[in-house]
Amino acid sequence: MIDLHTHTTCSDGTDSPFSLVKKALAAGITTLAITDHDSTAGWAEAVTAIQPQIELVLGAEVSCLTTDGISVHMLGLLFDGEDREMQQMLADSRDTRLPRMRKMVELLSADGINISLDDVYRATPEGATVGRPHLADALVANGVVASRDEAFLDLLNNDSKYYVTHAAPTPEDAIRTIRKAGGVAVIAHPFASRRGQTITASTFADLVAAGLNGIEVHHRDQNAQEQETLIAIARELSLVTTGSSDYHGTGKLNGLAENTTHQAQWEQLESLANARRVVKK
Ligand code: AMP
Ligand code: ZN
Ligand code: FE
Ligand code: FE
Repeated sequence: MIDLHTHTTCSDGTDSPFSLVKKALAAGITTLAITDHDSTAGWAEAVTAIQPQIELVLGAEVSCLTTDGISVHMLGLLFDGEDREMQQMLADSRDTRLPRMRKMVELLSADGINISLDDVYRATPEGATVGRPHLADALVANGVVASRDEAFLDLLNNDSKYYVTHAAPTPEDAIRTIRKAGGVAVIAHPFASRRGQTITASTFADLVAAGLNGIEVHHRDQNAQEQETLIAIARELSLVTTGSSDYHGTGKLNGLAENTTHQAQWEQLESLANARRVVKK
């Protein structure tokens, strides 16, 4: 059972890295990737929790923006965590998330919504990549909305007047950096239209030219038809297909291993990294 995309308290998940691995073990997952937004801060703790029944794939979900301003998430897996260019890219993203959050809070409070930057910081675990889900949690704590989902329905979605972007690499730059660091690049939920505008089918060839290795196909935010289209694109471009939960703990409905990756696809993906970096006990 292979789940290649999960989050912890090092970004906007609600389980610590240690607890995530323990829950994955209990769920029967045999290969688990930890992919916090723009951060590798959870890797060391996650490694301490593994048992012989579970192997760990260390990664990150890189927030990207196309030159047209479309939000893209790029999963980097099995890269060298010490790679300086990779860590710089992640650090740049985290750094610009702070002024971005300040702006979103200013826009919301200027409209009379009860929220302050301190409220958001209180809702953000120490050392976590700060994101809209923490702002959502702060809005819940202040009684403005009832849940994260309700916050995203209206106030915080990509089309909201309160939405502010942060500086981010292009998907091509992220792919090149991940690959230079020896890892593999899988585009996360490319057709998740509920979240905002998505890239078109013709864009994938450019990503392949930059070094893209795979497409996350089986994901709850993509319907059956979208998944079929993605499988056809993957076949045409010789890309690996993956499936994953995008688990966030109680922060989202997504259950661990609700979507999984086929063994043969995983083996092919793993072989494309420049070193054998799966962590086993
Ligand atoms: P940010 O990186 O700060 O722009 O926030 C993106 C995060 O918000 C990602 O973890 C998404 O999974 C989460 N997100 C996006 N849309 C929704 C939604 N409709 N409900 C809950 N979380 C969402
Ligand atoms: Zn997230
Ligand atoms: Fe994502
Ligand atoms: Fe994710």
